[in-house]
Amino acid sequence: MAKESAKKKTKGPEYIRIKYNAHRPYDWSTGKYLGKVYAEAKENKKLVGNRCPQCKDIWLPPTPVCPKCKIDMGWDWVELPQTGTLYQYTYLVYPLWDPHYGEKWANPYPSAVILLDNGVFYRHWLEETDKEKLKTGMRLQAVWKEDYDERGQGVQDILYFRTIEE
Ligand SMILES: [Zn+2]
Repeated sequence: MAKESAKKKTKGPEYIRIKYNAHRPYDWSTGKYLGKVYAEAKENKKLVGNRCPQCKDIWLPPTPVCPKCKIDMGWDWVELPQTGTLYQYTYLVYPLWDPHYGEKWANPYPSAVILLDNGVFYRHWLEETDKEKLKTGMRLQAVWKEDYDERGQGVQDILYFRTIEE
């Protein structure tokens, strides 16, 4: 008996595998602050953040309490510029896998940190997928989903940032 259990340990546990491919639509409340971002994106194709009354830092995603000053942010909203400069980027060498569905992630766009023209850092996708053409410092502009009915996903209503010549 003892011999048998020792043998089992060296083999390791047997895993039960369950095929999991459920479609799970659900609704959730954005809340007051994120709701403002979603509404401005959907209705006006505007990117907004909230500004601290003390340090004047702008936050996107917005926050009810300034992480630096630890005070109530109030309700001071700032429209962020939709142009900026590429600060950092990364591109896919190997595909990412969706952990929920076990499929390749469809998004082919490089992920970037963009320094918006008012000095706020913002993370989004780049339209340019040719890594030879990606250069920090290049100028970028937000490209929105044009169809009103397709918007409603907050900052994801911006498809990507497009390279622009100035
Ligand atoms: Zn502050």
